[in-house]
Amino acid sequence: MELFYVLLIYTTIGASCFYLIMCADPNKKGPAAFLNRLFYVRLPKLFQKLAPRFVIDLVGKGFNYICYTNHPLIQIMYLAIVIGGFILYILKGFGEHFPNKRLSDIHYYFAFLMTGLSLGIYYKVCSVSPGIITKENIRYYQKKYNRFDGYLYVDNNTCKTCKIVKPARSKHCRICNVCVAKFDHHCVWVKQCIGEKNYKWFLAFILSHCLLCFYATYIGFWVFYGRMVDDKLLEVNYYIAGKQQPVKGSIFIALQYLFHKYTAFFFVVIICAVMGVTLSIFFVYHCSMIAEGVTTNERIKKSEIRHALESEVKDIDHKIQREGVTVEEKDSLIEQKKELYKEFDKVRLYFQSGFRRNLKEISKL
Ligand SMILES: [Zn+2]
Ligand SMILES: [Zn+2]
Repeated sequence: MELFYVLLIYTTIGASCFYLIMCADPNKKGPAAFLNRLFYVRLPKLFQKLAPRFVIDLVGKGFNYICYTNHPLIQIMYLAIVIGGFILYILKGFGEHFPNKRLSDIHYYFAFLMTGLSLGIYYKVCSVSPGIITKENIRYYQKKYNRFDGYLYVDNNTCKTCKIVKPARSKHCRICNVCVAKFDHHCVWVKQCIGEKNYKWFLAFILSHCLLCFYATYIGFWVFYGRMVDDKLLEVNYYIAGKQQPVKGSIFIALQYLFHKYTAFFFVVIICAVMGVTLSIFFVYHCSMIAEGVTTNERIKKSEIRHALESEVKDIDHKIQREGVTVEEKDSLIEQKKELYKEFDKVRLYFQSGFRRNLKEISKL
């Protein structure tokens, strides 16, 4: 049973790392971008080369089903994790370690309140429409989102499925099969798109779960710290299997002892700490996009356009440095480069108006 919990802890840490690497920009430099390219481009390509045909088909079908169809599996998994984890926490944490001289009994009620609030916000983000564009409201959205930069958004672009002229900042989601205003991304955790109308609930969802995880970690920390001090776990000697002499206590051995004795509660606290860190990084990532005034979809598109422009600039630089280039050719290439830098500015300046103003606008929607 302990091995099962240890494996689950490692799986959660691994899954959290994968999730965060997914958010990194593959077109940039640095370790995060390198890992993104490694896990999402190079390794899948290697897998396709080496694996047998039927395995590739099976994995492909499973991946498509999980990521590109509107199924409730992830929602069920989310509820199982949150409600199951909460029950375990109440039974093994509050049940076995309360009343506690370091923590007030009020935490017992507070834990119910915070979990209830987090589940309520989850219900909201799942049920509030992201801002679906229909023939009835198309005029409203076209008036509201009418800045076309010619790069990310082109004027008079018709959605082939919805048969509507798409307003700027909108996108057709092929999973939900609708056009969404100020499209951010399709979220499998909530089984719908995140767009203009439910983005604030999505932010509240990340923040509330982040706070819930850190709160659970805080309670867990004081409970185990109390056990360590009250039971004098750092001062006693331990008899370890395979060793004849007793070993003097250390933090590492004391933590192992606590994990062995209170496995389920220790497990939930570790998972909460890992998830708290993951969610806070994800929350900061979204705050950085609010400051930049872009959605997740726009950040990805912007990065791709900038990467393409950068490649063109590099090509021009190579041509300039080549031997035998005439003065006229050089001047023409420099002019081309200047034009490209102007395009850079267009991509960079779109939608920027500051964190506070952007946040205020999001909260009003
Ligand atoms: Zn559409
Ligand atoms: Zn969608």
